[in-house]
Amino acid sequence: MKPIKRRLLTPGPTMVPERVLEALSRPTLYHRSPEFKEVFLQTRELLKEVMGVKGEVLILTSSGTGAMEAAVSNLFNPGDSAVVVVGGKFGQRWEELCRTFKVNPIVINVEWGKSVNPEEVKRAVEENKGVKGVLVQICETSTGTVHDVKAIGEAVKELDDVLLIADGITAYGVYNIPSDEWGIDVAITGSQKALMTPPGLAVITLNHKALKRLEEVKERAYYFNLKKEVKQQQKGQTAYTTATNLVVALNEALKMIVEEGIEEVAKRHSLLAEATREGIKAIGLKLFSEKPANGVTAILSPKGIDGQEVVKVARQEFGITIAGGQEHLKGKIFRLSHMGYVDQFDVLTALEVVELSLYKLGYREFKLGDSVRAAMEVFLKGG
Ligand SMILES: *Cc1c(COP(=O)(O)O)cnc(C)c1O
Repeated sequence: MKPIKRRLLTPGPTMVPERVLEALSRPTLYHRSPEFKEVFLQTRELLKEVMGVKGEVLILTSSGTGAMEAAVSNLFNPGDSAVVVVGGKFGQRWEELCRTFKVNPIVINVEWGKSVNPEEVKRAVEENKGVKGVLVQICETSTGTVHDVKAIGEAVKELDDVLLIADGITAYGVYNIPSDEWGIDVAITGSQKALMTPPGLAVITLNHKALKRLEEVKERAYYFNLKKEVKQQQKGQTAYTTATNLVVALNEALKMIVEEGIEEVAKRHSLLAEATREGIKAIGLKLFSEKPANGVTAILSPKGIDGQEVVKVARQEFGITIAGGQEHLKGKIFRLSHMGYVDQFDVLTALEVVELSLYKLGYREFKLGDSVRAAMEVFLKGG
């Protein structure tokens, strides 16, 4: 049977709800019009609600990495130090950004698939001179792992000179994260993951501590100049032309999250993730992460089966796009995303496709339907 439907189950971009697609297709607004200004200001307020912040929220026209770059280039002076948690591809990105902007990275290397020990972060901050920030992922998407950013926040909250900068691109919209309460000074996310919007927008928040830092740091960014953006965005403007259609779409997606309820959204993701994990274990496979995230599940490919082949068969034969591993994990793992516009039936379909793909590739140490049954039991119990 040839696939006639395509399903997108990668950890970004993710599937976009019909309501958001409809918003996206509305006629383009002028970015300096009163009409757009209203949508823009409302979108900022919705982001504050979803991200649990009271301070500034800036919307940048770029992929998520743009906000990461903005954080490093606007909040550190050359020669400053930052403690960087590197437990995967996105942790590496923090380190590379530091080097690009002459910030000295004090790297805490974490074995891929493991979660950082918050005590170790605290020690690195205390033992090194000139540390001005901690850079971490809330979810390291490449390994499907959560870091305990709440505990890291506890550890560095009292240090006035240290900003906690958290990349939550696959965490906001998956978990309920009260960023202010957790001591996150700068939170980052993007449109194309759990926020159910096409790629193209990044978000960065700044609390009072971060705003103060912004004033103290020598300006060295032009397009991603946060000082300029703060001034403009408070007025419902952006420094340069923003992707107005995407902002309208993001506005709609955020309304959907608020209508469902942030707590409910978090519960749904927790259930989808648990069902995926139980399903995978029921067919004899192992999870890659010791602390698996609720937005994406990384699965060790069984012995003798190339994870990239699983991805290929799923896409070519069944029309489902899942993700493989990155860097040294290429071929060793494959990843199922269940963040954003995903329900229990998407998870069941994903598990069926994993079973069918593995069968085709010669791994048959399970009965067809085993993973689906295990997942359904989780859904029945979870309500
Ligand atoms: C997707 C993602 C990013 C941003 O990647 P872009 O391709 O620039 O949008 C950053 N960090 C994490 C953890 C991600 O999952």
